[in-house]
Amino acid sequence: MSTTIAALATGNSPGGIGVIRISGENAIEIANRVFECADGSSLLDLKGYRAKFGCVKSGEEKFDNAVALVFRAPKSYTGEDVAEISVHGGIYIIEKALGAVFAAGAQPAEAGEFTKRAFLNGKLDLTQAESVADLISAEGEAAAQASFNLLQGALSRKIGAVQDSLIDSAALMAAWVDYPDEEIPELEQSTLEATLKNAEAQLEELIDSYDCGQTMTQGVETVIAGKPNAGKSTLMNLLAGREKSIVTDIAGTTRDVVEESVRLGGLVLHLNDTAGIHAGGDAVESIGIQRAMDKISSAVLVLAVFDSSTPLSPEDETVIEQCRGKRAIAVINKTDLEQRIDCSKIENAFAETVYISAKSGEGVAELEAAAKRLLGVEQFDTSAPILANQRQKNCCRNALGYIKEAREALESGMTYDAVNVMMDSAVDELLALTGKKATIEVVNNIFSKFCVGK
Ligand code: GDP
Repeated sequence: MSTTIAALATGNSPGGIGVIRISGENAIEIANRVFECADGSSLLDLKGYRAKFGCVKSGEEKFDNAVALVFRAPKSYTGEDVAEISVHGGIYIIEKALGAVFAAGAQPAEAGEFTKRAFLNGKLDLTQAESVADLISAEGEAAAQASFNLLQGALSRKIGAVQDSLIDSAALMAAWVDYPDEEIPELEQSTLEATLKNAEAQLEELIDSYDCGQTMTQGVETVIAGKPNAGKSTLMNLLAGREKSIVTDIAGTTRDVVEESVRLGGLVLHLNDTAGIHAGGDAVESIGIQRAMDKISSAVLVLAVFDSSTPLSPEDETVIEQCRGKRAIAVINKTDLEQRIDCSKIENAFAETVYISAKSGEGVAELEAAAKRLLGVEQFDTSAPILANQRQKNCCRNALGYIKEAREALESGMTYDAVNVMMDSAVDELLALTGKKATIEVVNNIFSKFCVGK
């Protein structure tokens, strides 16, 4: 018998409501001890997918109006009996309600335990379970869409199809080897080769799109570089949609590296607004400048901002030098002012040059397009299944390795027995990917990264 667990399923800060989720054999009984239906009925008699209005209570003391929802096993998120009590979302009320639920017999849920139970009860496979965490932490459209696709089983289906094709061929080969006297049709070598080639292609496609998927879902470490007053803070504020950096007309007012995740259309940029890159400055600023230089060398993408209303200066030349060999976009700013800069040197030095007015927002769409081109993600298809993390990628890569070995063995004339061993290993890797054959250590490790209540 598994324990009955409970935790706050919503955010741990004041809100309109707070939902306490209880799951396990005694979930509804425990909910019934702390919840009194307004119409005098009992939660114990309530069918699944039904809700009741009433009061939560600690002992006999009623302390909030609430709504209780009942899900009957196996038709619930975890596959167990589940009750969810929605109380008003104040920290004190939530703590009091949770305390009452624990006093009534529930154990505090561990990190990710609800989703882990869903996985163990076959409600989700591992890729879907991982997508729950990804969906919750998604910061942009692409990340949310990709996680939702995985939650809907897009990756599981693709992997499942490859896996089934291998299993079917392996089973036929095994039968043919083991029962040579039976009337089992011989598997044509060309058919087997085609199956292996197709599996290779499918897995290669997934592995090849991994980096692109990571860029789109995890965001891009980005640095905004440029001389003081070029408009770095203004650009950052434009992308962030609110005031974050201090914008003034006095050169060098952005003292340190300020971090912020912003959306540039479909991209998420983890942005560092840098101290102005220029010689001299006071002590505090020098520290900021050194850190900005370090950030440029470690950034994946650099937005090098130039002030088009002033002539190209030695400081601009330093920025150009800094960006050599980097994935950098020249952002020629202040296009709303009269142009005094000669852009030829900049255009020659950068793979992408865009003209914008950070003040008015003009040119931002061009900046997004340039960033996507530079990052190689302009073709990214948010509806296609992608590998969401290194674990999934490793399983895919290992499976691909075994399939290639199997095909080479086949081509070099080795027995079907030998080929079969490698195909079995490939299938094992795919089963590990979706969790059908994952070790308990892998499973525990995945769920330990979840928050409590998920
Ligand atoms: P930073 O030192 O590079 O961070 O530059 P700021 O963002 O602080 O901008 C310096 C000054 O230029 C401020 O007065 C901004 O309002 C102004 N500025 C920034 N972008 C533009 C722009 O596109 N057009 C105009 N006209 N002014 C801008």
